[in-house]
Amino acid sequence: MENPTPIEPVRIALKKSESLDIVWSDGTESHFDLRTLRRMCPCAGCQGERDLLGRTLLPVVRTTYDGPITALGAEIVGNYALRIIWSDQHSTGIYSYTYLRSLSKVG
Ligand SMILES: [Zn+2]
Repeated sequence: MENPTPIEPVRIALKKSESLDIVWSDGTESHFDLRTLRRMCPCAGCQGERDLLGRTLLPVVRTTYDGPITALGAEIVGNYALRIIWSDQHSTGIYSYTYLRSLSKVG
C-alpha cells in the first residue's frame, strides 16, 4: 500500500474583488471567479440541509445575493482546505482542496 501524495496549493493568489488563482503542487493551476465560488459554497447553509427523511430543507442563507461579492480574506484550514471570508459576512464555507480541484475542472 502506498499513500498518494496529497496535492496542496503551493501558491494562492486572491484578487479580492475578482478571482482566486491557485497553483497546485502537481504543477496544475486553477482559476476561480469569485462569484461562482461564492455560489458554490459547500456549507450546509448554502447548499441546504437534509432532514432525516432526506428532504432538502430550504437554505437559511439565500445564495442569490446579487451585490458585488468580494472576498475579505482566505485562510488555510488544517492541511486540506481553504476557508474564504466573504463580504456578505459569510465565512462558514470550507472549500476542501479536492472540492476546489473538482470545481476547476468544470469551469
Ligand atoms: Zn455557505
